[in-house]
Amino acid sequence: MNEILNLNINEMAQTEFDCSCGRHHNFEIHDLAVGPGAIQKLPEFAAPFKDGQILMVYDNNTFKAAGKQARDLLTDAGFNIKELYFDRGSDILIPDESVVGRILQEIEADTKLIIAVGGGSLNDSCKYVTCRTKMPYMIVGTAPSMDGYVSDGAPLMSAGRKISYPAHLAYAVICDTDIMKLAPQELIQAGFGDVVGKITALTDWDLSVKVTGEYRCETTVELVRRALNKCFEKSDQLPQRDGDAINALIEALILTGVAMALVRVSRPASGAEHMLSHYWEMDYIARGLNPIHHGTQVGTATPVIARFFEKLSDILPEGTGQLCPPHEEIEKLLRDAGAPVTPKDIGISKELFHASLMEGYKVRPRYSVLKFAMDNGRLEQIADEITTEIYG
Ligand SMILES: [Zn+2]
Ligand SMILES: [Zn+2]
Repeated sequence: MNEILNLNINEMAQTEFDCSCGRHHNFEIHDLAVGPGAIQKLPEFAAPFKDGQILMVYDNNTFKAAGKQARDLLTDAGFNIKELYFDRGSDILIPDESVVGRILQEIEADTKLIIAVGGGSLNDSCKYVTCRTKMPYMIVGTAPSMDGYVSDGAPLMSAGRKISYPAHLAYAVICDTDIMKLAPQELIQAGFGDVVGKITALTDWDLSVKVTGEYRCETTVELVRRALNKCFEKSDQLPQRDGDAINALIEALILTGVAMALVRVSRPASGAEHMLSHYWEMDYIARGLNPIHHGTQVGTATPVIARFFEKLSDILPEGTGQLCPPHEEIEKLLRDAGAPVTPKDIGISKELFHASLMEGYKVRPRYSVLKFAMDNGRLEQIADEITTEIYG
């Protein structure tokens, strides 16, 4: 029972176990390698597809970071490789119709596998295409920037709007610490922000269990909590790109994905802090502005949601408030990791911030502390207070 808690991250692929929550969990990813030098596993993981063609997808940044090394490892081992190279210069790659279409165009009759070398955008585009074409895909991660490496959803742009398409889990995921620790510092900070968000995500899950009777799996909660503790122990070393700190960050991002894959909902990873982030992002997209990194937004939204739990402590169900540390403590975690701390720091306007507190609960039909505040008639008062505390 709960065997996954006794496993090292590199032993978790293909794990099945009976859980104390009453369910049988199954982690379906075929291969997972995390750590220094993990990219060396690529030829072994790709071996089942050696009789066909493998389509490798990268952009100019990810080719430099890991794509060239990945391609050379496979060509030296005798694989039949086709390449799709997106040259975006200094622009970021937006995962939209044109990217998805280009990947589709490069698939041939004997293409057996797609390997995405990159972070969120290329991963999501390849994940979407391979799900629709019923083909496996593999990821070689280049930046510890978000928790989507182990995720079956593909957020893509479509006709100027962001849509979360259902897709599928990767066949294999490789996250080489030696490569990912060289990612731009703002991507490392973003990944850390996404991890920090799990603090309030787990608290929201507990609240919903107690108020609405929603299902909860303690094993996955424990899996995420352990990963968070390990990550937070060393996160003040992230600005120096310390190998152990980066490795703990990558593990936290991956293990959150494992937890989501086990319970098949995003509860272990996403609560009200993600609702605020999505609200801000939709506003930025609607105004044609470049969105701020997902995890960076999530990180700054987390102490805000912690303030909600503090201000509602008189009416929260027993035990819920204790799961969330004081907002000052969460702000310190962000500051020590070199990440932006408040929504004001990342340029969210006072008006947008206040609107997100008032309407964030409408972003998705998921019970959270925002809905709890609304249902108890406290939302507007708390939104006004927090807005004044942060923006003056
Ligand atoms: Zn996230
Ligand atoms: Zn369970």
